[in-house]
Amino acid sequence: MNRFFVENIGPDTAVIEGEDLKHLASVLRLKKGDHVMLSDGKGSECEGEIERIEIGKALVKTGPWRPCVSEPHHKLTLFQCLPKTGKMETIIQKCTELGVNALVPTLSARCVVQPGRDFDKKLQRYRKVAREAAMQSHRGLIPEVLPLVELKKADLSIFDTVYVAYEGEKERTLKAVMADKPGRRIALFIGPEGGFEAEEVAALVDKGARAVSLGPRILRTETAGMAMCAEILFELGE
Ligand code: SAH
Repeated sequence: MNRFFVENIGPDTAVIEGEDLKHLASVLRLKKGDHVMLSDGKGSECEGEIERIEIGKALVKTGPWRPCVSEPHHKLTLFQCLPKTGKMETIIQKCTELGVNALVPTLSARCVVQPGRDFDKKLQRYRKVAREAAMQSHRGLIPEVLPLVELKKADLSIFDTVYVAYEGEKERTLKAVMADKPGRRIALFIGPEGGFEAEEVAALVDKGARAVSLGPRILRTETAGMAMCAEILFELGE
């Protein structure tokens, strides 16, 4: 069944508008009486029946709302150091499919690409990618894409556990470290193409992060976040 995110929710109806309405009416050619799944974007979902399609909106009669079964209980936040052009969108799309809760574009010493004045525009684009990937992968929640932060200013205090994927860490694997239960709110840091500087990792470790290896092969920055999200959720049974 096709899935839509809705914000405009009444006691027993919801409204689909904008791009989603175009998709519903012109691409999927859904009509009155057709059934759709609705997500409130915050982790709840319900089945609905299209009651009316008019100019600018579709009115859907909603069934009972319930917690979305596809949402992981653990909340992963990926701090992704800025990769080369175009890769961030792939990372956002794939990590959304895998179940990430939020993504934070992060600026570190060896980022090749510097954020331009148009970064706000990019952020809007990234948020659209997250929304589309969340719809496609039947998420109950649209991962937030937060504004750019500098690595050294990242706030780690809101997480139960912070892992830094560090190519220079040869011993401690993610799997081994996860033997200590990580808690619900987990942050992961992935370096840019040029990797992390040892001092950057040391500063994160000083703030309570744990440096981990993702195995004996060096992954590209766009592979590392996906691999790490998948492994963490796998280890947690999600
Ligand atoms: N240029 C670096 C590699 C950077 S890979 C070098 O040649 O050593 C980009 C990022 O992906 C790294 O900073 C790290 O966060 C992550 N990464 C890739 N492979 C990894 C591995 N085997 N273990 C831990 N982190 C890894």
